[in-house]
This record gives sequence, structure tokens and C-alpha cells, in this order.
Amino acid sequence: MKNLLIETASGSYPVSVGRNIIETELIKQVNEIKPSSILIIADAAVQSLYGERLLNALSHFYKTEVFVVPSGEEYKSFQSFYDIQTLALKLGLDRKSLILAFGGGVIGDLAGFAAATYMRGIPFIQLPTTLLAHDSAVGGKVAINHPEGKNMIGAFHQPRAVIYDLAFLSTLPVHELRSGFAEVIKHGLIGNADFYHWLTSEISVLDDLDDEKLQHMILEGIHVKAAVVKEDEKETGVRAHLNFGHTLGHAIEASEGYGKISHGDGVAIGMLFAIWLSGKIHSLSLPYEKIKNWFKELGFPVEVPENLSSDALISRMLKDKKSHSGTITMVLLKTIGAPEISPFERDQLRSLLETWRQE
Ligand code: NAD
Ligand code: MG
Repeated sequence: MKNLLIETASGSYPVSVGRNIIETELIKQVNEIKPSSILIIADAAVQSLYGERLLNALSHFYKTEVFVVPSGEEYKSFQSFYDIQTLALKLGLDRKSLILAFGGGVIGDLAGFAAATYMRGIPFIQLPTTLLAHDSAVGGKVAINHPEGKNMIGAFHQPRAVIYDLAFLSTLPVHELRSGFAEVIKHGLIGNADFYHWLTSEISVLDDLDDEKLQHMILEGIHVKAAVVKEDEKETGVRAHLNFGHTLGHAIEASEGYGKISHGDGVAIGMLFAIWLSGKIHSLSLPYEKIKNWFKELGFPVEVPENLSSDALISRMLKDKKSHSGTITMVLLKTIGAPEISPFERDQLRSLLETWRQE
């Protein structure tokens, strides 16, 4: 097992990563909090696979209840949020109760937001079960979706601990693993050249991901994210660098319709565009064709789906919360580990996007 301490302005918390650590680590962390009771918020798929194991680890020591959320982004909703709060009130959870988020990013965001708001905030612990959750479980952004926009209703609420048991990842569907891997690559590119080169040399296909490599990449990815968050917890500056690959990625996801293309697949295409564009604007000297082939080997799509027009994508990008008055904000790279925010005029970016798509 390996540990990392995350420091933020509002406190610090440990991240532990290893196989079969849940029983020992969780009890250790929970005993530090000494909660009056525990409410587990669990993803339905995760609950049916590992629910009993988690409950067994706790229920001899603490009064523990479970709320199961059906799997899927659509359940990161007001209704689920309301149902959790209703149950918490009916069970008599108080300000000393603890919430556990047991699942991927959907559960982490939903359970974290419930914890942030129940009686003006109670502690929660993240028990991530997807690779993507290396990104969502740290940083303290928690939210639910509104029909008018994803993650629009939320808060900043840091977890008290993050316990990443690799045993849970073995049942993760391969497209979910790939989606999380896109964010791992992103963290390498924006934050750590050694780590990025390690990724390109050690992982040619997703089958290369054994426990040791998973552990290393989760810790390194979290390390990059944590460094950015430490500097800018409330997203007023450098935290925007985490958006690398996301401006176009989000536009593709939204235009295709959520669920049609995974978040990571959208981000992979977005990163390729950003790398290509960084070559034009900042003379970034990364081997674009080689990276594109690596992405292909990993199973990522490497082009924008043909049915999406560049015009429509640009209009989407203009609606992004990070864009302002006709200008689209892209995160580009000067070199690996040195991201830079670059604003573009609508027409300029549309013609660059067209050129890239036709090359
Ligand atoms: P997810 O939570 O929906 O999980 C993906 C799928 O995998 C689900 O169907 C789930 O049932 C299944 N699953 C999870 N763990 C499993 C396991 N161990 N074995 C088998 N199946 C398993 O999605 P995700 O990709 O983990 O997270 C996406 C969410 O994270 C989005 O809502 C996004 O907005 C959010 N997010 C938040 C932040 C943040 O900073 N708060 C950052 C990135 C993403
Ligand atoms: Mg993302």
C-alpha cells in the first residue's frame, strides 16, 4: 500500500492506494472520526459486487446503513440528492455522522454534495471504484446535475480520506478503464514529464495495467491534481489547467448526447487537438503522429465523429462556463508540464479546427 497526503487551504487528508486494504484502512480512518453513525451511498453495480464486504468491515463497530443509487450519470440528480437527505433525516443522522461514497465519480459527487449540505456539512470519505475517480475523488468539488447543465449545483467539500482499493477495479468494464486512463494521460501531460514518458513506455495497451502500474499511475495522477488544487482550491486560476483536452472533449460529448461517447474518449480527441494546436501556437515539440497511434492502440477514437460539424462544436464551446463573450478558452501546452491558457476568437478557432480535421 502507498499513501499520499493532500493539502488544501481547508485541511489535509490521506489517500491510500493498494489491493485489499479496505478493511484495515477504512476502520483506521473511521476510528479517527469516531462518527455517531455511518451512511454508505453505493453505486448499484458496486453494491452487488462488494456491498457485503464493505458492510462486514464496519457493521460490527458502527451503526451502518446503506443507500443504493442506480448506476448512471442521470442519477446524479436532485431526486437522488433528495432521497439521500430524506433517508438521513429519517435515520436520525446528526452532525457527527459520516457518509461514505462507494462507487465512481457519480457517487463521489452525489454523496459528497449530500455530505456538504446535510446539516450544513458532515464528514465524508471517498471509496473510489473506477479509474476515473482518481480525478474526481480528490479536490473537493462535489455536485449534482441540473437539467440545464452538468455539475451546475454543487459545493466545495473536501473528503476526510480517500481509500482506493485496487481489488474493486478488477471488475471495471474496459471502456470505463479507458475513460479513466484519458485523465491519467492528461495529468501526465499537464503536470509531470517523467510520469508522461513512463506512461508512454510502460502502457501500450490497456492489458498492460497490472496492480503495480495502476497504483503508480493513480498516485502520480492524484499528485498532479493535488498540486493544482493546493494552489487554487476554489478554481480562480491554475485549476483551469485541469481542463486540458476538455474544451473540445465536452463539446463532442454534449453534441453526441451524453452516454453516446465516454468522457475519456471525448477528452482523448480533445487532447489530440490541443497537442496539435500547441505545436502550431507554442511550437510544442511532441511527436503528434506517434501519440495519435498510441491513442489508437489504447482503443481511443482519434478523430471528431464525422456527423458533428465544426460550426456546431464551436457554438458548444462558446457556451462552456469557461468561455467569455465570444472568446473560447483553450488550455494548450508550451511543453509537457507547462500548460497555458490561450483565448481564441470564434472564427480563428473554427478554421484551425477545420484544418486539423482535414489533415
Ligand atoms: P460512474 O461513477 O458512472 O461509474 C462508471 C460505471 O462503472 C457505472 O456504470 C458504475 O456502475 C460502474 N462501476 C463503478 N465501479 C465499478 C467496479 N469496480 N466494477 C464494475 N463496475 C463499476 O463514472 P466515473 O467515470 O467514475 O465518473 C464520472 C463522474 O465523475 C461524472 O459525473 C463527472 O462529472 C464526475 N467527475 C467529477 C470530478 C470532480 O472533480 N468532482 C472530476 C472528474 C469527474
Ligand atoms: Mg474530466
